[in-house]
Parts: sequence; structure tokens; C-alpha cells
Amino acid sequence: MSLFNRQSVIELLQSPRDELFARADLVRADVMGDAVYLRGIVEFSNICANDCVYCGIRKSNRNPKRYRIDSTEIMDVAHRMQASGQTTIVLQSGEVATPKEDERIATIVRRIKAETSLAVTLSCGNRPRDTYAYWREAGMDRYLLRFETSDPDLFASLHPDCSLEDRLQCLRDLRSVGAQVGSGFMIGVPGETLEILADNILLCRDFDLDMIGIGPFIAHPDTPLAGQLNAYADDPDMYFAAVAALRIVNPDAHIPATTAFDAIWPHAGRDLVLQRGANVFMPNATPGKYRKSYMLYPDKPCVDEEDHLCAGCASARIWSIGRMIGTGPGHSIKHR
Ligand code: SAH
Repeated sequence: MSLFNRQSVIELLQSPRDELFARADLVRADVMGDAVYLRGIVEFSNICANDCVYCGIRKSNRNPKRYRIDSTEIMDVAHRMQASGQTTIVLQSGEVATPKEDERIATIVRRIKAETSLAVTLSCGNRPRDTYAYWREAGMDRYLLRFETSDPDLFASLHPDCSLEDRLQCLRDLRSVGAQVGSGFMIGVPGETLEILADNILLCRDFDLDMIGIGPFIAHPDTPLAGQLNAYADDPDMYFAAVAALRIVNPDAHIPATTAFDAIWPHAGRDLVLQRGANVFMPNATPGKYRKSYMLYPDKPCVDEEDHLCAGCASARIWSIGRMIGTGPGHSIKHR
């Protein structure tokens, strides 16, 4: 485990940017190699019982048309991913914690594992350990659940439906059922300080996460945070500094270049993140007609695309920066 503390992470975040980015890229190349793993994401439902104050698909927002993609359509995407050489499918949704929904999700995981060789990642929010165990038994390989912020009071102000401790318990439960665990946070939610950002990075290390996804907070107009500025709005390079410091403190974690970077720097944000510490790309694999209804934040890229798979475009971007596509499942490199 790396020996950083709050003060030394803050120093990293404030160090000359060119040096910081170059160092993060070196650590990434050394420890993770040049391959970039693709993890196609299917946003299979935007129905949500929660009211996270930043999120565009929160329960109280009446604007998005609510949808749930049926298993036939999900399987169609899975087969196309397999045929195009992709190795992981990520299934993400709003939060509907009912036994019926848990069972539907288990059924689709079982089908994907039976009919393809894809690794399956779920990202469906807080659940009791029993549900995670049930999904794991069905074949789930990994789970993504961001802790969003390490500050308990800030967390409480953002999440009327759960506490930071509940969220962290979910991460422990996921580990205990044998899933590879991904988490992470938003960069610059209003009220975040540099101390909190440093603690976020350290919390990722303390949980020894297999995958860490972080991306800038972007205010959504239909939420209580409408119009609020990112805490680093006057220094957007801090978003990249956060990824670079994250890589240096967590050398052997998978780190995706997250979609929100492309919302801020269209067609370029994710490429830059890949050159400043990241080694994973998550192309949108949601069927085109649903994409406009899964607007977590404004200016989300690729929502006008007709094609179901953004992987072709992602591959071109990866080759153009001199990297290659990861083959094989791209499991965690951590040995437990
Ligand atoms: N219901 C699932 C999926 C949530 S959406 C869950 O809670 O895990 C996935 C991620 O999008 C969230 O974890 C959050 O970090 C991010 N997100 C949501 N709204 C955002 C916003 N306004 N700006 C930036 N990121 C946002």
C-alpha cells in the first residue's frame, strides 16, 4: 500500500501539472501497460427510487421518459459486443430495490454468462449483502458503486436516501461475496475542499479497489444543484490532476477515462485522461433510442448516435494516441 497521507496528496494535486501528468502516465505504463480495456456500458433502466440531489435521473425529476430495456434487447447488445471482440459488459441502472427487480437482474446475468464469454459488471446501487450474493451466484464478476465523496456530512447533504456508512458497507459486502469491486467519486461537488479531494483519493486506496472511476461534477438543470459551479470551475486542470494523483496513489487499480470528461471537452477529454493515468474506456453500448433519457448530467456525449455500439469510435481514439485495445477479460491485476 502506498504511503501517502492527506498532506502529501494535496502536495501532489498542487504540484506543477506537466510533471504530475507525466509521472502518472509513467506509473500507468509501468504497472498496467499500454493496453486500454473496453467496458461497454448498457444503461438498461432509468427508473429510480432515490433522490440524489445531483443526478438527472433522480426520482423527483419528471422530465426523463422512464424506460426499462427488456432482456431480448440486452442480449442482442451482448451478442454484438461478443461478436465485435469486446470482453466486458457493464449493466447500469437507477435503483429499484425490489425482489422482482433483483430476480430480473439475476436472470439476465445468467443468460449473458451462458450465451457469451463476457465478463459481467453490475452497477445498480445499494443493496443488502444477500442480493449481492445472489447476483454473484448468478455469475456477476464485478460491481461498480461510487462512494461519491468521503466526507460524511457532504455525503448526507447529497443523498437523502442513504448515509456514507451504508454505502461503504455495500462495498465491504461486495468484496465479501467475491466480486471485484469498483468505486470512486465525483470531482468538485459544491462544498468539496482540497482536503476532501485528497481524502477521496486515500479512501480509494484504503478500500484497495480493483477499479476506480472518477469524473467532474456537472450541474444538471433539473436538479436542486442546477446552476451550481464545480468547486474547481476556475481551474479545470484540477479534474486531470485528480486522476493523475489517483493513479500515483493507486498504481495497480483499473482507472477508466470517464464519460463526464467528454462532456466538458468534447471528443478530447477522455483521450487526455488516458494520457494522464487512465487505462480503461467505457464506450456507450445503450441502444440509441434510450440515450436521451439517461442524462445524468448535461452534454453527455454520444446521445445522438444511431449505432448501438460506440466501441468502434473508442478504438480509433485509443489507436490515435498510440495505445492498443486490451484483449482478454481485463480482470483486476490485484492478487488476493
Ligand atoms: N444508480 C447507480 C448508477 C448511478 S449513475 C448508482 O448509484 O451507483 C453513475 C454515476 O454517475 C454516479 O455514481 C455519479 O458519480 C455520476 N453522476 C450522476 N450525476 C452526475 C452529475 N450531475 N455530474 C457528474 N457525475 C454524475
